[in-house]
Amino acid sequence: MTQQLVWLRSDLRIHDNAALARAMAAGPTIACFVISAKQWRQHDVGDARIAFLLRTLTELGNDLAKLRVPFKILKAPFFSDVPAVLARLAKKHHVEGLHFSAEYPLNERKRDSQVTIALEKLGCDVDVYESSLVRSPGTVLTGSNDPYTVFSPFKRRWLADLGGALGQEKTPRAQRAIDVEADVVPRKIDGVDASLLADLWPGGEKAALGRMTAFCTAAISDYHKSRDLPALPGTSSLSPYLSVGALSPRRCFAAAGVTDAAGYSSLDDGPSTWLSELIWREFYRHVIAQFPHVSQLQPFKRNMKPVAWRHNKADFEAWCSGNTGYPVVDAAQRQLLATGWMHNRLRMISAMFLTKHLLIDWRWGERHFMEQLVDGDFASNNGGWQWSASTGTDAAPYFRIFNPITQAKRFDAQGDFIKHYVPELAELSGKALLEPWTVAGHEYAPPIVDHKFARERALAAFK
Ligand SMILES: Cc1cc2nc3c(=O)[nH]c(=O)nc-3n(C[C@H](O)[C@H](O)[C@H](O)COP(=O)(O)OP(=O)(O)OC[C@H]3O[C@@H](n4cnc5c(N)ncnc54)[C@H](O)[C@@H]3O)c2cc1C
Repeated sequence: MTQQLVWLRSDLRIHDNAALARAMAAGPTIACFVISAKQWRQHDVGDARIAFLLRTLTELGNDLAKLRVPFKILKAPFFSDVPAVLARLAKKHHVEGLHFSAEYPLNERKRDSQVTIALEKLGCDVDVYESSLVRSPGTVLTGSNDPYTVFSPFKRRWLADLGGALGQEKTPRAQRAIDVEADVVPRKIDGVDASLLADLWPGGEKAALGRMTAFCTAAISDYHKSRDLPALPGTSSLSPYLSVGALSPRRCFAAAGVTDAAGYSSLDDGPSTWLSELIWREFYRHVIAQFPHVSQLQPFKRNMKPVAWRHNKADFEAWCSGNTGYPVVDAAQRQLLATGWMHNRLRMISAMFLTKHLLIDWRWGERHFMEQLVDGDFASNNGGWQWSASTGTDAAPYFRIFNPITQAKRFDAQGDFIKHYVPELAELSGKALLEPWTVAGHEYAPPIVDHKFARERALAAFK
């Protein structure tokens, strides 16, 4: 049996993890994680996510110790440093097989091919697995073998030939102890302490499974009704766990009672709507894998006329800090700053407000979200921003422009969510709460732009 190395990245779990299981089946295994702090910052990864990652790594180290797999923590400031760092570890421990799970953004793919070349030069076998998706990019294609560019037909095809894709990987049993010392996961990376937002977002697979089970035994049945209401805990809040891979999507399908396509078609509305969101997650990962230009700051719709974005820093700052004068947008932005997370309905309202009402480049907003989100995830964030800015995969054209007042009336009818994050409006209700500028003498920030004017400006700019 030859020494194996499993390089864990966004598959930070021991259950349903093909890279870990196959490495351990092949021989005595060492696990490693590479901290690339400078590269992460270049990718706009924020403090909340780094702290969450640290907590998750600590839990993972404990779980791996139970399997007697030593967990090494390596440092390579940029992705270009990773091949040398991994080669050094491989040489030192006479590694003969490297195992890792695929990642799809362009820079990650370049890094992985350079690592493969470096390790193969040392005589190592390199094996790449799918751990973050149920179905890999390239396996869900149109009749003419092209990738899908719109969600609904993608989802139909994804389900139609699902086959055994929901089968989970076996959890490995503990190996014999090997003579390699595990590293201690640092408490800090790049000045960020692991305790940041720890109460809201405990790290690790156990926390993820606990959340998933709680959601799937209760709130899931009403998900189709409550998922758009930000004042309710109607969604799973599993996104940070899915984005670092502390949880596999297959486990989510199983927890919702689905192990094959037939199982999906007989579901009630709640679970079926929830699992559909997980298929959105798959869709955006397929998009970044198959359309590499979206990893290069380009609009998904390559042939669209460039929009004359307003590069207005003051308006952007007002939006970032939650001071646009539109209470629902302000509450959303303040939720993000306070918790590192924002409800999906609000992400859409807020992103559309920035790109349509303020006509500010979606890339500014995408970056701010990445810097703040605990679940910051390139594929879903880029997909969500481009969808909202009408540069992406939205089947509806550019004239989809949410009215923030109507949206608030529909989705926060009593204003409970707004009042929580914008306490200075707590005594108001109804029209006064949603349009505080109509209340004589009220001191709330005036609306940064008039809705009707902004709508017409956006329509002209996108035409
Ligand atoms: C502008 C914008 C930016 C976004 N940025 C991110 C991001 O950086 N990271 C991220 O994980 N999600 C992002 N999303 C998608 C979505 O808002 C979050 O996944 C969701 O709010 C997470 O909450 P939850 O775990 O309670 O989701 P639930 O409603 O419980 O859904 C279950 C899971 O499905 C996935 N999911 C749900 N909605 C979507 C969606 N619209 N697109 C892709 N996957 C989805 C998530 O992994 C989520 O955890 C973004 C959406 C928009 C509109």
